[in-house]
Amino acid sequence: MQKVAVVTGGTRGIGAAISQRLKKAGYKIAAIYQGNHKAAEAFQKQTGISIYKWDVSDFKACQEGIKQVTKNLGEIDILVNNAGITSDGALHKMAYKQWEDVIQTNLTSCFNMCRHVIEPMRAREFGRIINISSINGQKGQFGQTNYSAAKAGIVGLTKALAQESAAKGITVNAIAPGYINTEMVQKIPETILTQITNQIPIGRLGTPEEVANAVLFLASDEAGFMTGATLTLNGGQYYL
Ligand code: NDP
Repeated sequence: MQKVAVVTGGTRGIGAAISQRLKKAGYKIAAIYQGNHKAAEAFQKQTGISIYKWDVSDFKACQEGIKQVTKNLGEIDILVNNAGITSDGALHKMAYKQWEDVIQTNLTSCFNMCRHVIEPMRAREFGRIINISSINGQKGQFGQTNYSAAKAGIVGLTKALAQESAAKGITVNAIAPGYINTEMVQKIPETILTQITNQIPIGRLGTPEEVANAVLFLASDEAGFMTGATLTLNGGQYYL
C-alpha cells in the first residue's frame, strides 16, 4: 500500500524537492505551506501534489490540518518537519518577536506536528519522523541566536523522541544541511554568500535535491536501525 508522507514547508525550496522526491518514490504526499499561495498553487499544478495551508507554529491548526490530511490521504506514515524561517540580528539588537517567531516556527512546530501524528504511529507500530535542523544549530552563527537555538533544539527533541518511540517501530532522525541554494539563502547579501561559499570545501552550495535524497533514505524501511541520529550534509564545511 502507498505510504503517506506529510512535508511541512513542502511547496518551496528544500521542502518542494523533498515532496517531489518522495512522490517519485511512490509515496502519497501532503505538502504544507503557510502563506505563499501563488507559489503553492504553481507547485500543485506542476507536480500534482496535494497542498494544505496552515501555520505549523499553531498547535490547534496542526491538529485540524493533520486530521484533514488523514481523512483525505490515510494515516500518516512519514512526517518531515521542514518548515522554517529566519529573522536575523545580533542578540543585543533582537526584538522579542524575532526570537519568538523563529522558535515557534522552527522548533515548537516540530512538537506541534509530532504530537498529533505520534499516537496513531505508536498504535500502528510504524513511523518515520525526519526533522530538518541546520549547520547553524551545530556550530552557532553570528546574528542567529534565535535560529541556532531552534535548530539545536531540534536535535535534542529528535534524540529524546527517538528513545521514546524506538520500541514502537518509529524512527526519529534529523538532517543538518549546510548552505543550500534556496530563496532563504538567496536573501543573504552576495558578498557574505561568497565568503560562505569559500568556506565550503566542496566549493559550492548544496542543492535541495541533495537534501531530499537523504530524506528519502531516512523515510525508507531500510533505515529501520537508524534513529536519534543527525545526518550532516554540508559539503565538508563543519564536522561535529
Ligand atoms: P524556504 O524559505 O525556501 O521555504 C520555507 C517553506 O516553509 C515554505 O514552503 C514556507 O511556506 C514554509 N513555512 C514557513 N513558515 C511556515 C509556517 N509557520 N507554517 C507552515 N509553513 C511554513 O526555506 P528553505 O527551503 O531554504 O529551508 C527549508 C528548511 O531547511 C528550513 O527549516 C530551514 O531552516 C532549513 N535549512 C535551510 C538551509 C538553507 O541553506 N536553505 C540550511 C539549513 C537548514 P510559504 O511558501 O507559504 O511561505
